[in-house]
Amino acid sequence: MNERLNRLANLPLRENLQGLEPYGAPQIDVPIQLNVNENTHPLPAEVHRAIVEEVSAAAVGLNRYPDREFTELRERLAAYLGHGLEADNVWAANGSNEVLQQIMQAFGGPGRTVMGFPPTYSMYPLLASGTDTTYLAGVRSADYGLSAIDAAAQVREAAPNIVILCSPNNPTGTALGLDVVEAVYEAGKASNAIVIVDEAYAEFAHTGTLSALSLLPGRERLIVSRTMSKAFALAGARLGYLAAAPEVADAIRLVRLPYHLSAVTQATANAALKHADILLANVEAIKVQRDRIVNELTRMGLHPASSDSNFVFFGGVKDTKAIWNGLLEAGVIIRDVGIPGHLRVTAGTEDETTAFLVRLEELLDQGPHTLSS
Ligand SMILES: *Cc1c(COP(=O)(O)O)cnc(C)c1O
Repeated sequence: MNERLNRLANLPLRENLQGLEPYGAPQIDVPIQLNVNENTHPLPAEVHRAIVEEVSAAAVGLNRYPDREFTELRERLAAYLGHGLEADNVWAANGSNEVLQQIMQAFGGPGRTVMGFPPTYSMYPLLASGTDTTYLAGVRSADYGLSAIDAAAQVREAAPNIVILCSPNNPTGTALGLDVVEAVYEAGKASNAIVIVDEAYAEFAHTGTLSALSLLPGRERLIVSRTMSKAFALAGARLGYLAAAPEVADAIRLVRLPYHLSAVTQATANAALKHADILLANVEAIKVQRDRIVNELTRMGLHPASSDSNFVFFGGVKDTKAIWNGLLEAGVIIRDVGIPGHLRVTAGTEDETTAFLVRLEELLDQGPHTLSS
């Protein structure tokens, strides 16, 4: 491996990629995988059948390029989002990671900046380096919160070209109030900043949590990013999308590869959207397990953050490595996001959640890797 690294270092890599490591959540084949916030419920049989049928029909035409404008898909996504949005307000790509990359290609780039507020989604700095956009790390309060006043002051000071707010935030799980989005948008006016709200987990938010979709009218530099990877249980299909003013989609058309969404991807996503109600039924079951994890971890003396997502971030762990390894030995993989004393776990099915909680409590009872105060 070291020799491989040396050989990599000898290649004429762009300066801003030198020494970087790729995104690398471990893919370990254990029975209970609660580490990358997937929807662990298998696809309902009815949806599976519908996808196979629609993909089969699309396969007949695979000798031709797909609809470059994925018109039916944009119409279906707009209808799903509601808020008076239409197909022209929607853009899609292979996962919201690609959507975010396209936004940075269009609005970032050399000499430009993108501001995020860590701890947040680990892909933001990587997407920044991939597009040669300088990443500016804003700061949160000690409890990882972000207030409107604080966020706006930092944006005013840094005058970035792009701001990314993640709500509900990964890895902490908590949603932002819309006052934060409004304040950041206002503060970004001076630098004409594009403001992205990454709502990858929006469907899991507590009832009453408002989406930034409601702020889109009159804000032509605001972009709301969504994905079918989490709530729709379609991580393997790779379909992410955004809602924004139509001219934002036009900007992205300047950088997207032609025919970037394959006919197979479009057929899969269209079939899934026709059965959105069945797919989203599992979201409620996952929220129950999410709340159960928060309650149980609190009872065990740990410090879970309040979660509007399908995962729980918790502190109070003295020896995160030992807990992570102990769970793995029992066939349960969770995520060490590199924040001392903290771990993150995805809410799985009831059985998966039980296996995680039982094993965790055993490990805590055994010590010595029990709680810090
Ligand atoms: C999982 C996740 C995504 C989704 O990525 P896809 O490319 O759509 O699979 C986007 N943003 C955040 C914060 C995530 O956690």
